[in-house]
Amino acid sequence: MQAMTAKLIRVFTKTLPEEMRQEFENERAVHTLRNCKYLSVLVMVFELFNMYMMACVRDGGLSVHSHRVYFVLYILLFTISLAGFVLSLIFERDVDRFAGLSLKLAVAESGLFCLWGTAVTLYDQRVTENVSVYLCIVLSVSIFVSYRPWEAVIVLGINQIILMLLFPTFQPVPTNNMGNYTNTACATIMAVLIAAMRYNNGLETFHSRKIIVSQKEKIEEMNRKLHIQVLTDELTRLYNRRYLKEVMPQVWKQYQEDSRQVTFVMMDIDNFKIYNDTYGHQAGDDCIALIAGLLKSHLNLPDCHLLRYGGEEFLAIIAGKDGEEIADKVNKARLDLEQRKLENQQAPLPYVTISAGMVTQTLDQTMRLEHCIRQADVLLYQAKQKGKNQVIIGQDTP
Ligand code: GH3
Ligand code: MG
Ligand code: MG
Repeated sequence: MQAMTAKLIRVFTKTLPEEMRQEFENERAVHTLRNCKYLSVLVMVFELFNMYMMACVRDGGLSVHSHRVYFVLYILLFTISLAGFVLSLIFERDVDRFAGLSLKLAVAESGLFCLWGTAVTLYDQRVTENVSVYLCIVLSVSIFVSYRPWEAVIVLGINQIILMLLFPTFQPVPTNNMGNYTNTACATIMAVLIAAMRYNNGLETFHSRKIIVSQKEKIEEMNRKLHIQVLTDELTRLYNRRYLKEVMPQVWKQYQEDSRQVTFVMMDIDNFKIYNDTYGHQAGDDCIALIAGLLKSHLNLPDCHLLRYGGEEFLAIIAGKDGEEIADKVNKARLDLEQRKLENQQAPLPYVTISAGMVTQTLDQTMRLEHCIRQADVLLYQAKQKGKNQVIIGQDTP
């Protein structure tokens, strides 16, 4: 019994985390407006049919008093539906803005439907104990309209109470209304449960969907970070050789298709073995990281792929800039390092310096990435041969 009560309380108090509520209400408003529209149209058509039947087909037509009462009731329901339909169309234009109003509209319109059903059912009592209009309306409303559970309790509960209180008033002879009470109460309870289940299912589905989307985003973010990590050199935070193998081929293909002008710069720290031997491996690491940062700041260009090619070698592949501009930037980087005067006492040049070889090519379909890199490497070798601490620029050769 306690468990059942707890379950029942949960049905009526289920809620979402604060940050999801507004979005859920907006989504609920979209569905509710759509359903309201369809329900309104359905009711309007039905009421037009009823009006026609009452005025033209039923014996006596509108000259009979009760027919006129029903006719007025049909017009009333038609008008409520028409108003609901028009308001749904207006709110639908900006659901985010009218979300709250849309949901209130649905509750109000369906509440009036139920009151109408109650009124017709009570009026029917003059001639029959039939309650089918009420049953039909409360069940339809619980299916079509998105109620919060407690809203369903209020709207449907009020109608149920009115019915129970007024049954005897409308019946010509006192009747045992046990059957009517049971049937309408069952329908009301069923309608409340249907509304609550629909609301809670919607809430759970929304929540699960949000969790799945957020997990998916987290996984994608982790994958993205992992992918970057895999392609990044840990010491310098530049790209690594894997980047050259895995990413560059697609970039290269695109550059070839666009016939881009691409510059290849191979750079190497001069006399680095001596530096390492003099100051130790850790100092060597720090020096590599410092030079990587320096290159990064000088070659901070769009479409520049700067990577640590090997131990103390760096490769830059730069598209879309002319060779002279890039040569200027590489030279500035070289001079910047020279002016820092990082001691390399035992080396023929007493400071840490870099040499570079660079070549600019306008790509066509026949060119190969490895070949262009090799060209830059050959030019770097020439720079070393010519005394280091310099940039050698090659010709644009296919
Ligand atoms: P050159 O001017 O001709 O380039 O002479 P070099 O001494 O710089 O070139 P060499 O190829 O003879 O030596 C490169 C040295 O770089 C050897 C190695 O100890 C050092 N090295 C390579 N990778 C790393 C690294 O990750 N950290 C450190 N500290 N040293 C490295
Ligand atoms: Mg070197
Ligand atoms: Mg080297």
